Amino acid sequence: MLKGKTALVTGSTSGIGLGIAKALAEQGASIVLNGFGDVDGPKAQIASHGVPVSYHGADMSKPGEIADMMAFAASQFGRVDILVNNAGIQHVARIENFAVERWDAIIAINLCSAFHTTRLALPAMQAAGWGRIINVASVHGLVASAEKSAYVTAKHGLVGLTKVTALENASSGITCNAICPGWVLTPLVQKQVDAKAAALGISNAEATKLLLGEKEPSLQFTTPEELGALAVFFCSAAGNNVRGVAWNMDGGWAAQ
Ligand code: NAD
Repeated sequence: MLKGKTALVTGSTSGIGLGIAKALAEQGASIVLNGFGDVDGPKAQIASHGVPVSYHGADMSKPGEIADMMAFAASQFGRVDILVNNAGIQHVARIENFAVERWDAIIAINLCSAFHTTRLALPAMQAAGWGRIINVASVHGLVASAEKSAYVTAKHGLVGLTKVTALENASSGITCNAICPGWVLTPLVQKQVDAKAAALGISNAEATKLLLGEKEPSLQFTTPEELGALAVFFCSAAGNNVRGVAWNMDGGWAAQ
């Protein structure tokens, strides 16, 4: 379905980003990976779908490196047809104890980076008359939790950016939508499970149960594969007129 298209997924060396990159590769898209840590493993997983894959290690907190990455993607594949803004980090503390540099990093990586990639990707999409921009927000783009001020602020902002991007391109073939997951068991959430287990002196399994029970009525994690399938839907012809939505996959979290 996506043969001949190029998808750039930020923060795709792990977790949800890698899951979405794999789902798009399965549909035939060429992939540009980004993120830290192991690169060879994720690259091999994408290449196993028989599609071209490339990698750029831009730090999403640095606008200059983001511009380099967008230019690199265009030089490798002509243009970016599908942009998935996924890179993100978390930090948990009450506002009065929230480290200023953590606040700045979360706003830069989880929110500002999407503005930079989007502004740089749009001109080529507009010239081609087709594009898909998918912002991986969070259920925290719709509702709040205590001790996540920077994250909740960034994700609400990302949902706002999604709507404006959708509106400014509404009469074209370019759509922009947000995905709002609840809990997904990735390294980002494993750290929160570990912290809960340590703080309460309980096992990992008990901490996982508590974490899910506090927020997610299904008591089940959403998987990167399920989120990848939603991204594929947004890229399909059936998604042509889906514009500016913030679609939660959250086990009922935001329905309460
Ligand atoms: P993860 O830690 O598994 O992956 C994060 C990815 O972002 C990694 O590839 C990492 O290398 C990359 N990254 C981090 N900082 C970066 C930077 N400065 N520059 C470039 N890349 C950077 O986390 P995940 O759970 O897969 O999270 C992915 C996205 O999904 C995030 O935006 C997160 O907020 C969102 N999300 C996650 C959950 C969840 O429960 N895991 C729920 C809702 C939303």
